[in-house]
Amino acid sequence: MAHQKQMLASIFIAVVTSGLCTVLCLAEGKKVELRRDYNVKPVPFNKVRVEDNFWTPRLDTNRKVTIPYAFSKCEETGRIRNFEKAACLMEGKHEGIHFDDSDVYKIMEGAAYSLQVHPETMMRLYLDKLVTIMDAAQWDDGYLFTFYSVPEKQPEKLWTNIQWIHEQYCVGHMYEAAVAHYQVTADKSFLNIAMENADLICNTFSPGKRTDPPGHQEIEIGLCKLYRVTGDEKYLDQAKFFLDQRGRKGNRGPKGNGGLYGEYSQDHKPVTEQTRAVGHSVRAAYLYTGMADVAALMGDMEYVEAIDTIWKDVVDTKLYITGGIGAAGGHEGFGSPYELPNMTAYCETCASIANILWNHRMFLMHNDAKYIDVLERVLYNAALSGISMKGDRFFYPNPLQSIGQHARSPWFGCACCPSNVARFIPSVPGYTYAYKNNDVYVNLFISGDVTIETQNNKVKLTQKTQYPWKGTVNISVEPEKSDTFAIYVRIPGWAQNQPVPSDLYKFHQAGHEEATLKVNGKRLSLSTQNGFACIDRKWQKGDTIEMDLPMPIRRVIAHPNVKADRDKVAIQRGPIVFCLEWPDNDGKVLNLVIRDDAKLRTEYRPDLLNGVMVVIGEAQVVKRTNNGDIVPDRDKQFIAIPYYAWAHRGRGEMTVWPARRPEAAQPEPADTLTYRSKTTASFVHVSLNAIKDQILPDSSSDSSALQLDFWPHKGTTEWIQFEWGQEHEISSVKVYWFDDTGRGQCHVPKSWKVLYRDAEGNFKPVNNDSPYLTEKDTFNKVSFKPVKTDGVKIEIILQDEWSAGVQEVIIE
Ligand SMILES: [Zn+2]
Repeated sequence: MAHQKQMLASIFIAVVTSGLCTVLCLAEGKKVELRRDYNVKPVPFNKVRVEDNFWTPRLDTNRKVTIPYAFSKCEETGRIRNFEKAACLMEGKHEGIHFDDSDVYKIMEGAAYSLQVHPETMMRLYLDKLVTIMDAAQWDDGYLFTFYSVPEKQPEKLWTNIQWIHEQYCVGHMYEAAVAHYQVTADKSFLNIAMENADLICNTFSPGKRTDPPGHQEIEIGLCKLYRVTGDEKYLDQAKFFLDQRGRKGNRGPKGNGGLYGEYSQDHKPVTEQTRAVGHSVRAAYLYTGMADVAALMGDMEYVEAIDTIWKDVVDTKLYITGGIGAAGGHEGFGSPYELPNMTAYCETCASIANILWNHRMFLMHNDAKYIDVLERVLYNAALSGISMKGDRFFYPNPLQSIGQHARSPWFGCACCPSNVARFIPSVPGYTYAYKNNDVYVNLFISGDVTIETQNNKVKLTQKTQYPWKGTVNISVEPEKSDTFAIYVRIPGWAQNQPVPSDLYKFHQAGHEEATLKVNGKRLSLSTQNGFACIDRKWQKGDTIEMDLPMPIRRVIAHPNVKADRDKVAIQRGPIVFCLEWPDNDGKVLNLVIRDDAKLRTEYRPDLLNGVMVVIGEAQVVKRTNNGDIVPDRDKQFIAIPYYAWAHRGRGEMTVWPARRPEAAQPEPADTLTYRSKTTASFVHVSLNAIKDQILPDSSSDSSALQLDFWPHKGTTEWIQFEWGQEHEISSVKVYWFDDTGRGQCHVPKSWKVLYRDAEGNFKPVNNDSPYLTEKDTFNKVSFKPVKTDGVKIEIILQDEWSAGVQEVIIE
């Protein structure tokens, strides 16, 4: 333990011994002096010029489409009007959700970033107009939150429901936006609004006064940014104060009940005692990001120990192969260890962005490439999936499997994800490079150039690459003056047989080709330090680095504890995780098995999905026989596309984890009487087909295999009918009921009966010799005197207060 403390202490030593570290305030050229900060410094996005086949279109789309589109949605949905009403420019009630202000701030932050790279007068004027409205909407004491400002100010309501109303979350985003706006425009008007508000917060929440931590973290990150730009330590102290109140009872709320918010808000114990990632995943990752910032700025080792432990918990047991986090939709958050379901995966887009923010800070703190490995995985997969290619359709959850129920949406009532994308995409270039003293880091591979101002030099690097499709990266190096320093080039974990920095996923077979590195055409023997190839030499203008990362197609296998991925395989090539989607595979993908010996190849398709590499191979279609066995039926070519590019061609089946053994596939159903029937129902909620797909649920409450239910009908009489073109002799019907008591509103029915169609075409009850049971978690079989019929009807009477549903039906 003592050794660990010592090791941790060394993280900040470089900073402490080199004295004060300075942050250049872009706008005024004035330097704000901070006592310490991250060991490694990021190179801000605006220093990085991107000219890249993959990223330039994304950045352009965000600037030309997503940001204006998101602002127009804010206009349309009343988010801007709320500010206008609060500024007394118009009258009316508050529109939308109480924390909608945050969306406007996030898009403003993105717009400011975008302006820095592409100055556009109209966008600048629009931002200035919003700042003027916000200035008018701000109360004299600095308070700014439209929900309590319209139709008139409600001072008695302030800070009365910090757990759920999110005043602090909203203004945290305001601080981030205001800092960005100031750095880009040199205009202090928005920053002044933020500082006045932060001053109010500092006066309201302090020892001896109110001690409530925010219900939703974010303000901690914003306060650290305010501190960095102003140098005023009270903002930093306030961030730490909020972090330290978590998990501690105190003076919370006017009612003084002092209750903790619990695990959902990471408020179950003090942050320094937390060891597992729990609760709402966006809240959690913003918390860990804020802890990293405060730790770096204050040298708090206890925070570092806590987030190191929590990071390991996530990477060991709670990270999707796409880099997404948050397994469960119910609380939008982390599940138990290894609980990583695919179809119901939550993987909120905001959580992916938060995971990137957090891992970037972990890298800056520890200068270890494993954090960039995680960041890159999230970036190219889970995060990019959140936004459509055209930039105006969004995913909130990003599942890893679909049967057609998922599609990107133009907007959401709770629009946290679209607005987060709008600010995140322009910041992507900022993750590419970093420096420490005179040494520079190349973290991501994006064509373009950068000039890095190191301690004693200016180093221009120019990257040329076709990443992520090709692994060759050429970097030309032009230091202003020739000097000896190190260039650390990240060798991705996936190029060293380690898809993630844990045993949660592994490549099925180790790759034998190794990454190679040449300087001025001469090959270097590659040894890595913390995941970086360190090239420490005297650099001069005209020097070149040539890296080649072999990109074979890799099969990924999950840890055996991940039940959802057992006997399944994921496909990865370079940083890209692939998926099988219906349009490329004749409509179905869940019935396919990719055997371990199936040959795979890649093909670049310039005309598909804005140009993607696809993986093509042989799969087997599996089928269920009449006696229930699952057997290969025929071979078929499959095509896999990058996961981020799915859901652009309509709804249908998709999977990131196709089966590698027949048992894990969803076989084509056996040719049974039930399957062959023409099936209709009085009402369909979820899926009619689910009752004859021959996929049995684990229990009546299992909704993963889908069901037919009659919700929201309650107390009604419903029916399901099965018809054939000819007569069959039938003597039994088995029904497996759907019942989600405790979670939903379906219970087993009050009663049911089976009818058959007689020769005159009338439905008559069968003559049953066993009772009509309504037991859960099993088939309820009714046998009857055999009938010859071309139609069977099941009549179901629902309980008065409840709906009902059916998982599976077997007619024999
Ligand atoms: Zn979100």
